[in-house]
Amino acid sequence: MIVDSLSRPLRSLRVSVTDRCNLRCRYCMPEQDYVWLPRRSILTFEEIARLVGIFTSLGVDKVRLTGGEPLLRHDLPALTAMLAKNPAIRDLALTTNGLLLAKHANALKQAGLGRVTVSLDTLRPDRMRELARSDRHADMLAGIAAAGAVGFPLKLNSVVMRGVNDDELVDLIEFARVHGAEVRFIEYMDVGGATQWSAEQVVSQREILEVLTARYGAITPVTTADLSAPAERFRLPNGTTFGIVASTTAPFCRTCDRSRLTAAGTWFLCLYAERGTDLREPLRNGASDAELADLIASTWRGRADRGAEERLGLANRAPLFQVEGLRADPHREMHTRGG
Ligand code: SAM
Repeated sequence: MIVDSLSRPLRSLRVSVTDRCNLRCRYCMPEQDYVWLPRRSILTFEEIARLVGIFTSLGVDKVRLTGGEPLLRHDLPALTAMLAKNPAIRDLALTTNGLLLAKHANALKQAGLGRVTVSLDTLRPDRMRELARSDRHADMLAGIAAAGAVGFPLKLNSVVMRGVNDDELVDLIEFARVHGAEVRFIEYMDVGGATQWSAEQVVSQREILEVLTARYGAITPVTTADLSAPAERFRLPNGTTFGIVASTTAPFCRTCDRSRLTAAGTWFLCLYAERGTDLREPLRNGASDAELADLIASTWRGRADRGAEERLGLANRAPLFQVEGLRADPHREMHTRGG
């Protein structure tokens, strides 16, 4: 097993398959226009599968397809099928906003996808119009229903923002319960792209637990064998479980085994990292699997990133990048790095 300078293993890889998205969520893509990755830089499915194969030879066993909106990538089930053939991957998952999921859920299931996480921040169509500049709330709900119908284990991600959707915590828990899903409330993060972030808008894990305790009664933590999981899980007195990803107020860098490959083949060791490692150039210039594995292994061994913990220590916390910085390098965007 390859470990970094803080003894964290290389285990979980998030693969962004496109930087394009069909939503404009206020916490991720609030601008009117964006600088996109050049088309020729986007990795082919064969290139992605080869790189993932090299990662799994070094210990990665969890792969999550993400974006941008991954279902905007043409024929995602074909890539899924290629990855599902890799026996080293014990967890193959997809994070999507669900708008196109009803159309593709069955093909993804047939292709061997293991589970799905759908981002659902509000149950109110009018609110989604404001929050994500989209009137396709019904498509999102249809996607969630389709994922359940074909038998995917389902999680729902909800970014909680003060004054925006923090009055929907109970509604989201109840919606998830009815749909056999589990909600993960995510603290609003000051990542690249979140140019409107401010500390006041963050609803902390502590506050979320207070609201839910007032409604349901005593909440108990659920212990898990997977200490690297980003969400802490909890159980309501009625048995319903949910998670909270407290990256902003209680970061978990010490156990973070996640890294991110962008659609253009840049590999990031931390969501907050200033720079990534370009794997596309050596890949396209004829590097062997062994050479690429050496590059990946030596880069991981030098990893010392603790981005979220370092952000926590800042006196005047503000968005990670301003718009000009994001335009200068789209790799700084959350929608490029893959959430
Ligand atoms: N388009 C897909 C989706 O909507 O799930 C995948 C990409 S999206 C960038 C992945 C996740 O990142 C989503 O669950 C989204 O809510 C989360 N995310 C994006 N910006 C965030 C922010 N500023 N704070 C917390 N979570 C964020």
